[in-house]
Formats: sequence, C-alpha cells, structure tokens
Amino acid sequence: MKPTKVLAKVPSQFLKSSLVAGIVFSMPAFAKPDNLTLTGDFRQGHLIQGKVQPGSQVSLDGKSVYVGPKGQFVFGFGRDAKPTSQVKVILPNNQTITKTLNVQQRSYKEQKINGVEKKYVSPPKSTLARIKKDNARIKDARSVVDMRYDFQEQAIIPTKGPISGVYGSRRIFNGVPKWPHFGLDIAAKTGSKVVAPLPGKVTLADPDLYYSGGTIVVDHGFGITTTYLHLSKLKVKEGQWVKKGDLIGLVGATGRVTGPHLDIRLNWQQVRLDPAILFPSLATK
Ligand SMILES: [Zn+2]
Repeated sequence: MKPTKVLAKVPSQFLKSSLVAGIVFSMPAFAKPDNLTLTGDFRQGHLIQGKVQPGSQVSLDGKSVYVGPKGQFVFGFGRDAKPTSQVKVILPNNQTITKTLNVQQRSYKEQKINGVEKKYVSPPKSTLARIKKDNARIKDARSVVDMRYDFQEQAIIPTKGPISGVYGSRRIFNGVPKWPHFGLDIAAKTGSKVVAPLPGKVTLADPDLYYSGGTIVVDHGFGITTTYLHLSKLKVKEGQWVKKGDLIGLVGATGRVTGPHLDIRLNWQQVRLDPAILFPSLATK
C-alpha cells in the first residue's frame, strides 16, 4: 500500500537563512504566518482551500472542518449554499477569528415535463430498502478524510464526448421537482474508456447500484472524492490506488438512465460540488 503523502514544503527563506547562518531559527524570526488565508471562488458548487496556523481548529457554519498538520484545510459550497457562510478559526492560543464569506448565488437550468408515467416519477416501493442501502454505502465512500493532496493536481478529462448534462439542473415531472442533477454528463458510447482524472484511492466499486448502476468513488484527499456513474464495466476494485490516466471503467447505460453516458461527480464529503471546476477546458455556463 502506498504511504500517505505528507506535504514537506519548507519556506525558501527559511532554508536560505538556515544555510547561511548555519543555525535553525525559531519561528518568531520570520513573519508570522497569516492567521487565515482562503483561496478559491466563493460561489455555489465551488471548492475553497485554506490555511491557518498549525494546531488551529476550523469550522464552517458551525460544522468542524478537518485541518491537516500544516494548517491546511478544504471545504466546498453546495448547490444551494446560502448567500453568506461563516468560517471560524480557533488559534492554538485560543484566540478566535470569524470571517463572513459572501457566496455568489447561481441560477440553474429547469425543465418542466408533464404527462410523465408514474413509474418514472417515484421508484417502486419494493426498491426502497435497496436504495437506502446503496445510499449508506455511497455516504461511507465519501466520508473518508485522508491527508493527501491528489485533488490539487490538474485533472484530465475522464472520457471524450459532448457535455449532455450539467451540475445543478433540475427536471420538474408533472409539477413535482425532482432531485437536482449534481453531475457533469459526458455523452459517449457504451464501452468507451473512463480514466481517472486525478490520482486517488477507490473507496467504492459496485457494478449494480439501483440509480447509478456501475459506480466508482475515488478519494483524492481532504474529503474530496469523485464519483463515476452508469458504467458498463468496472476496471478497479475497492481499496485500489489509481494514478491519473489509469483506466477505471467503461461507459455504459446502467442504473436508471435513458442512454449511455458518463456522469462524473465531485464531492467534499457529503456536499456535492460542481465537477466542471475540475475541467476548465470544458467550461459550461
Ligand atoms: Zn447524469
């Protein structure tokens, strides 16, 4: 098993000073690290990376956020994130910093469809237990928080094809709004190769979930996972490490779908983010 990667970046001025002086300075010799830095778009569906003094505690809207040993952390804004969010940091000396973030609100595509047969509006009762079980497994697969930075690499596009569905869109069947679509759909033929856009560890590989059919979840560190749905074939197993570009499965039309495509998702733990942010070259509006 591959050991967990640990970021070992030493500030260059630190190295230089240590070499020149031949001694290692204690921290106060240098500028105090920022108490809180945040980078990323404060926008629904987006991912934010932050840094605090090592040993600090961080929470987002009252929910604790994992902080790495060097003070790094990650969080994301969901599809319906409120217009403001609050980050609270408790520094190692117990001093508290609170910062209010303005989260840019988006509007999502809506499609009204009437006269839909009832069986497509809600799943049959007999499948509810199975769906519940599937959901619990998916939740577990997205709950991993591992000290790895695989998500920071530039992602590659997992399969070729036109974008046929975007994050956040919602269909309204017979006046009933359906669960929003959280994925980015890439239309491709059954059997087309799906490669890992980022390195990571497979936390779920199941050939037959009720909604999503052949499904893979890959963990990229700090609670960031990607999910691949409707696959006709899986080429990886749970617990397996993958490198960027490794074949993980084949496109299919398994689960509740009308045609073959890859549906890729991006999650920060249980929060669904916009997968399009991984692939700037696929820019969709
Ligand atoms: Zn989809």
